Amino acid sequence: MNQIILLPEDFISHNRVLLKGRRFEHLVSVLNSQRGDRLKAGLLNGKAGSAFLIERNQNYGILEVSLTEDPPPPIPLTLVVAMARPKSFKKLIHYATAMGVKKIYVIRTWRVEKSYFSSPVLEEDFLREEMILALEQACDTILPEVFVRKLFRPFVEDELPLISQNTIKLTAHPYSNAHFPRCVNKPVTLAIGPEGGFISYEVELLESLGFITVSLGERILRVENALPAIIGRLF
Ligand code: SAM
Repeated sequence: MNQIILLPEDFISHNRVLLKGRRFEHLVSVLNSQRGDRLKAGLLNGKAGSAFLIERNQNYGILEVSLTEDPPPPIPLTLVVAMARPKSFKKLIHYATAMGVKKIYVIRTWRVEKSYFSSPVLEEDFLREEMILALEQACDTILPEVFVRKLFRPFVEDELPLISQNTIKLTAHPYSNAHFPRCVNKPVTLAIGPEGGFISYEVELLESLGFITVSLGERILRVENALPAIIGRLF
């Protein structure tokens, strides 16, 4: 935790917060924070800044906060990703959030197992908790928006044209002869496939919308590894 994420309910006055539970335990057991220490803090979906630990006992700490700074800018990437096995998905959401992605569409493609959609990792509370951990890691405060779409074709035909309007459209596919562009620094809509990969029909439907099918090279990576590699390359 490089920055404490504060929630409105933590505030006991306009500039003081009472911290208990996981975040307080982290201050005590990992950071060994003492009275008078200055820490980084940010209000969820709000400003960031500093926090002084003004009181600490066994059960809670009180921080005096000054939150006047903007969080780091997001990266201009909309992620469209096939639902992965829950363990991978959890990592993917974490890395996407930590790297500054703010819009994530989780889709069902032909090779996605139906049962993945009933996993608790897609529940709102679980997603929020995982994303907060990633915001704490990356010193950001803005939660990404996550949308789940279980029907591939209606999503691609009816929603994706608007979502991807005025962006560079890319489909990550290991078998393309074209390579990912580097340092585009423009808005991108990126489609990433499931563990079994996209089928040809899906790649072609995306191509019909202007998506360029590109590869990272001959090494086929897990979804949660492919995403940071692609982001590093694009931005
Ligand atoms: N067996 C699958 C296949 O044949 O496509 C591998 C899928 S890979 C585990 C999951 C997704 O990560 C792919 O659909 C693709 O979007 C992305 N990916 C992984 N490695 C890649 C690479 N070298 N180039 C482009 N995309 C890659």
